[in-house]
Amino acid sequence: MNLQEYQSRELFKKFGIPVVDGSVASSVEEALKIAETLGYSVVVKAQVLTGGRGKSGGVKIANNEEELKEKVSKILSMEIKGLKVNKVLIAKAVQIKKEFYVGFTVDRSSKRNVLIVSSEGGVEIEEVAKNDPEKILKVSLDPLLGMFSYQAKNASMFLTPNKDVISKISTILEQLFRLYISIDANLVEINPLALLSDGSVVALDAKIVVDDNALFRHPEIETMRELTEEEKLEIEAKSKGFTYIKLNGSIGCLVNGAGLAMATMDLVKLLGGSPANFLDIGGSSNPEKVASAIEMILRDKNVKAILINIFGGITRCDDVANGLLEAIKKVKVEIPIVVRLTGTNEDIAKKILENTPLIYVDSMVDGVSKVVELVNRG
Ligand code: GDP
Ligand code: MN
Repeated sequence: MNLQEYQSRELFKKFGIPVVDGSVASSVEEALKIAETLGYSVVVKAQVLTGGRGKSGGVKIANNEEELKEKVSKILSMEIKGLKVNKVLIAKAVQIKKEFYVGFTVDRSSKRNVLIVSSEGGVEIEEVAKNDPEKILKVSLDPLLGMFSYQAKNASMFLTPNKDVISKISTILEQLFRLYISIDANLVEINPLALLSDGSVVALDAKIVVDDNALFRHPEIETMRELTEEEKLEIEAKSKGFTYIKLNGSIGCLVNGAGLAMATMDLVKLLGGSPANFLDIGGSSNPEKVASAIEMILRDKNVKAILINIFGGITRCDDVANGLLEAIKKVKVEIPIVVRLTGTNEDIAKKILENTPLIYVDSMVDGVSKVVELVNRG
């Protein structure tokens, strides 16, 4: 489970890690109130679960009320890497002298926790690893004994020659490690950890990923979960008896069985299309369920055509065909629907679907080719 920056900052504070004053807002009015108590300048930061917000225009400084209004309303209407921004963090703006990267994570190859630090802060660590690997130090930690103070000191000395800064950073590393262990995190990351012009060292960003398998031990963290629009859809689908996962393509897929659904998506890709979703309708194909599945697929405005791929085993194809007809009576569909129905009573099903708006095909390959052709033709 990923925490938002404003949530991670609260945990940082609890463990003594210095952060700049600030608070979260969901509207311009709330932002103005926060800025009033902080004083200008402030930094406005999009709260979305992705990195690179700075580069995408999701981090901006406001020097007065006018600028704050403008920047908050702009950022609140943004989407960053497909994620809608609903909240912004308003924090005191600071003068940065130097940016570092520090983090703890699990190193799968050595099966140990590892401390990673880099003198190239503010940049994505993957970039540094690729371009300047010598600027990264990794320290493998003992699974039983944890991190020794000398390891924190050594890592800090790798970052700076300044004695005072070394001592501040190693204290932060010890606090961050305590946090990492006590909440069963997979990752805690401060990027940038900033040395400010007044000589203080503060966490200017905060990223925490908690191990999902350990969440039962941390109910207070579970309650911090903020569902994305996509996750809300997934939960709604589950409540209606099918599994739906939104993707970014243009071909809506409605399939029975997770394996067949995966195979269908593979074939769509192979033949030059891209699936808009994964959807496993499950065992029975009652019209009610099919109708709500189609309705959910259609909520995605990227969808240009739908492919229905059903293998009728225990469910008979003629029942499915009738169900489909009933379903499209319930939901208004203005895009083509290609249907591949095979298995028990498929001949009857084929007859039922003759002279209907549904495009019947005889095989999975035919169906996928057809739907890809329809979408690519536009
Ligand atoms: P990310 O791009 O999603 O990792 O978001 P960050 O929280 O790391 O912010 C991006 C960058 O904005 C940081 O690397 C800093 O250089 C800059 N930044 C953040 N807060 C401040 C601030 O208070 N003052 C200044 N001058 N820059 C800031
Ligand atoms: Mn960052």
